[in-house]
Formats: sequence, structure tokens, C-alpha cells
Amino acid sequence: MPFEEDGPIITLLEGNTPLIPSVHISKIVDCEVLFKYEGLNPTGSFKDRGMTVAITKAVRDGVSAVMCASTGNTSASAAAYAARAGLKSFVLIPEGKIALGKLAQAVMHGATVIALEGNFDQALQVAREVTSRFDVALVNSINPYRLEGQKTAAFEIVDCLMDAPDYLFIPVGNAGNITSYWMGFRQYKEAERAKKLPKLCGYQAAGAAPIVLGRVVEKPETFATAIRIGNPARWKEAEAAAQESGGFIDMVTDDEIRKAYELIAEKEGIFCEPASAASVAGLIKAKKQGKVEKGKTVVCVLTGHGLKDPDSATLNADLKIRRLPADFNVVRDYLVEVEKVGEK
Ligand SMILES: *Cc1c(COP(=O)(O)O)cnc(C)c1O
Repeated sequence: MPFEEDGPIITLLEGNTPLIPSVHISKIVDCEVLFKYEGLNPTGSFKDRGMTVAITKAVRDGVSAVMCASTGNTSASAAAYAARAGLKSFVLIPEGKIALGKLAQAVMHGATVIALEGNFDQALQVAREVTSRFDVALVNSINPYRLEGQKTAAFEIVDCLMDAPDYLFIPVGNAGNITSYWMGFRQYKEAERAKKLPKLCGYQAAGAAPIVLGRVVEKPETFATAIRIGNPARWKEAEAAAQESGGFIDMVTDDEIRKAYELIAEKEGIFCEPASAASVAGLIKAKKQGKVEKGKTVVCVLTGHGLKDPDSATLNADLKIRRLPADFNVVRDYLVEVEKVGEK
């Protein structure tokens, strides 16, 4: 990390997340699929990897407050690390579009939450202007220290596989993360820790796919709120990462994202948030299109924890719950007749 050896480090011991082999999706796509489960970071998303570095830098620079615009996870992470550092934090959120868990975190960690009447891109514009004029550090991924931290996920994948995978599938919102992974993989290759580089395949949501469409999306829409971004700050870098690696940036529909979100939970036992499932939805789509040959090693990044967004998870919960009286005979009949459970 780009720091002097001594000096304070603000950390919650983020990173070292597991690379979990797939038991089901591997079979669907005929590849060796692994999930980099970033939902297991301290605040439940990969944003912590960058936030430890950005907040450490803010402390060493002697600022007293930090600010970010956020679709949710950046604010949760900024609030937690700022709390630990004793800094004040301001988070600007697009009105009405934040998953409940993320908002709960920002509030609990003592951030000042300001809901703006506008979308993420407008909130980021305001944050840029405020932080350019006041003694407040911007901790969005335009901050280069964020990327320095986030690249460590690529290091961990190589350390675990003893080389880079053939493909990395990753959701793309503001495009900081795909940029970070590319930095990390290249750095490890240069240091001869990896023999090859992976093809980076980034996925936007169809209703928020500026890079794929080649134009700013004024009113981005998707239920994957973490990637509901119409004008990514790291647009150019993301395009370069995809192109240089021999990969691509494409989009998946909300329907495809929702199916993958449910599939990962039901068949892999892993609960990720909707935006994270765009990586798996993308892999399934790319495989159908013949873009991924069989037998390849594929890492899908699951960027955030499913508990972040209980509303998305419980949308159909009422329909799935069986309601029965608290009576053994009724429950027994249900198990035997409907669920076909056999007696001992
Ligand atoms: C921030 C975030 C993304 C998008 O990452 P970018 O760096 O903005 O492209 C994807 N998924 C989750 C869960 C996120 O919090």
C-alpha cells in the first residue's frame, strides 16, 4: 500500500474472503467456477478493501471529515471506517433507492445521511464539488486510494489458485472495482506471482448500461440498486481493462439477474445481493453465446451480502411460506402428502 511504514492504519481486518468452489453453476456452464464471496467483508461488501486505505489516507492527511455519494455500500463502509477513525462522515444518497440494510449501517455508525432528490450521478457531482472546496475528503472510487485497496482481491485469487483464472466475471456500476482487479492482476503478473492474466468480463444491468450502449443513461433503472449508475466515474478505465484483457463489457436484464440471485441462494447456499448476481447472470449468458469455452477456470465476484437487501429477498416470501395450525397431525399430513417425507 502507498504509505510510510509507521503511522496509523484504520482497519477492520477486511479481505481474506473465501474463494468458494461452485457445486451447481459449474455444471450448468461446464467450467470450473469459483465465487469470490466479498459479502464476508466486515461491513458486508468489497467496499471495505478500498475504504481501509482511503480512510487511512484521510487520517494521515489530517482531515476531519469524509464524504461519499453512494448507492449504499460505499456509505455503509465509509461510515464504519470513519467511526473507527474518529472522523465525521457525510453520505449523499439518491432518494428512495437505498437497500434497507445499507441505510441501517450508515445510521448506526453515526454518518450524517443526506438524501438528495436526484440519482447517484447527481449525488456524486455534488460530492465532488463539496470536497473540492471544503476540508472534507472524498472517499468514492474516484479516490485512487480506494482502487489500491480493492486490487488486493485479485492478489488473493491468484494466491489461492496459484495463477490467475481464465476468466473473471464481475458486476459493473461506477466501474472502480473492475479497474482495481485489472490493476491487481497486472501487478501480480509483473511480479511473476501469476503466469497469465484473466479475461475480464464486466456486466451492467440492462436499465443502467451506459458503457454497453456507449452513452450516458439519464435515468438508470434496475432492481440491482448497487449498480444503478448511468455515468460511471471509471468508464474509460473499465473499457480499457476489458479490452486489454481480451474480455468485454456486456449487460444482463433484471430478469436474468433475479434468476441468478435465486439460483446462487438455492443451489449454492450463498446469499448475495442482487447486483452481485449480475456476474453469474453474465456468465450464464456468455456461455450460451459461446463466449466461454468448456473446462475453463472462472471466478465470479459476489460483491455484497444478501442480508444487505432484505426487501429484494422477501419480495415473494409471503407466497413461499406455508401457513398451518400448530398441530402435529396437520404438520405430519403436510410433510407426508405434500413434501413426500418418508417415515423412519
Ligand atoms: C459498489 C458495488 C458494485 C459496483 O462496483 P463498482 O466499483 O461501482 O463498479 C457492485 N456490487 C455491489 C454489491 C456494490 O456495492
